Amino acid sequence: MFEYVGNLHAHTTTSDGAGSHGLVAAAAIRAGLDFVVITDHNVWVSGVEGYYQNRHRERVLLLTGEEVHDMTREPQRNHLLVFGAGREMAAAGQGQRAQALLDAVRQAGGVAFLAHPIDRAVPWAGEGSYSWDDWDVAGYTGLELWNYMSTVKAMLPHMISGILRLLAPATAVIGPDPDILALWDALLQEGRRVVAIGSADAHAAPMQMGPLRRVIYPYQFLFRCVNTHVLVEHPLSGSWEADAAALYSALERGHAFVGYSLPGSPRGFRFEALNGDRTAAIMGDQVSLADCEALLATAPAAARLRLLHNGRAVAEQDGRTLTYTPARPGAYRVEAWKPYRGRRRGWIFSNPIYVTLA
Ligand SMILES: [Zn+2]
Ligand SMILES: [Zn+2]
Repeated sequence: MFEYVGNLHAHTTTSDGAGSHGLVAAAAIRAGLDFVVITDHNVWVSGVEGYYQNRHRERVLLLTGEEVHDMTREPQRNHLLVFGAGREMAAAGQGQRAQALLDAVRQAGGVAFLAHPIDRAVPWAGEGSYSWDDWDVAGYTGLELWNYMSTVKAMLPHMISGILRLLAPATAVIGPDPDILALWDALLQEGRRVVAIGSADAHAAPMQMGPLRRVIYPYQFLFRCVNTHVLVEHPLSGSWEADAAALYSALERGHAFVGYSLPGSPRGFRFEALNGDRTAAIMGDQVSLADCEALLATAPAAARLRLLHNGRAVAEQDGRTLTYTPARPGAYRVEAWKPYRGRRRGWIFSNPIYVTLA
């Protein structure tokens, strides 16, 4: 498999972001990303997708999705990330149940992810919560397990401590919201397939705090934080349309993991089901108990590795590898926690391998 690292959630001046598409692409290149998806609010921009190259001939694939929500509804929650629909989807999200939008995305051949499913309000800063409310929906591919800027919001319940944390995110951010992890595990336990992604939700807007006005979270910094690592069968071709299709297809199948790059590059992490020397499944796949001799997680550096079965830890160990022989069907996923700046932080979150009875 070939690994490509990208950020699936960023805003430009087309909605409420501070940078142009070109500026976001340049920042993504400097951050070492392979691809970046622009998801402006309720607007899909065509004609800008493709490979962007800098003068050192380094390149990034820039794609445009969309972050859609019902603007007629208060509060304006239920943000949905749409990828690969290839057309404007905002109209399908207005004044309707969230299911209508999900159906329309499917019809357009796109995939949908629930954005920042649990999002904390910051009353002292006048910031509301943009959680997902309508849990009776079906047909979404997955959810944002770790939205970096939403994690930052969650660190700010009180003003003074909040401002200090805001100014030192590398020290303050620990991992994804534990309630989102629990929510995801609960959905997996119900037997659902839910693909987890991680993203920046980059706006790069200047923040005003009294006399202080600065961009604390520029695109380039955010693209070095939480990203989605996608595994595809063949190397990307350089033709943007084919490459977009390959990335979205892998994402839809859950051939991906969430990585936080500040504690160390998560590139190279793998989680697979083995039968003898053969790889019977990789993350996102289904495999029968009989075809799964062992589950193997391999990290690119030493970390605390945890294997969870339907949300419960069944194996935990320090090192670069972890093996486990599953005795029961269910969703198995791996977390890696790595020391950084004085404490252990969420580093890698794999998508599950779904072990079935037959
Ligand atoms: Zn949002
Ligand atoms: Zn957003």
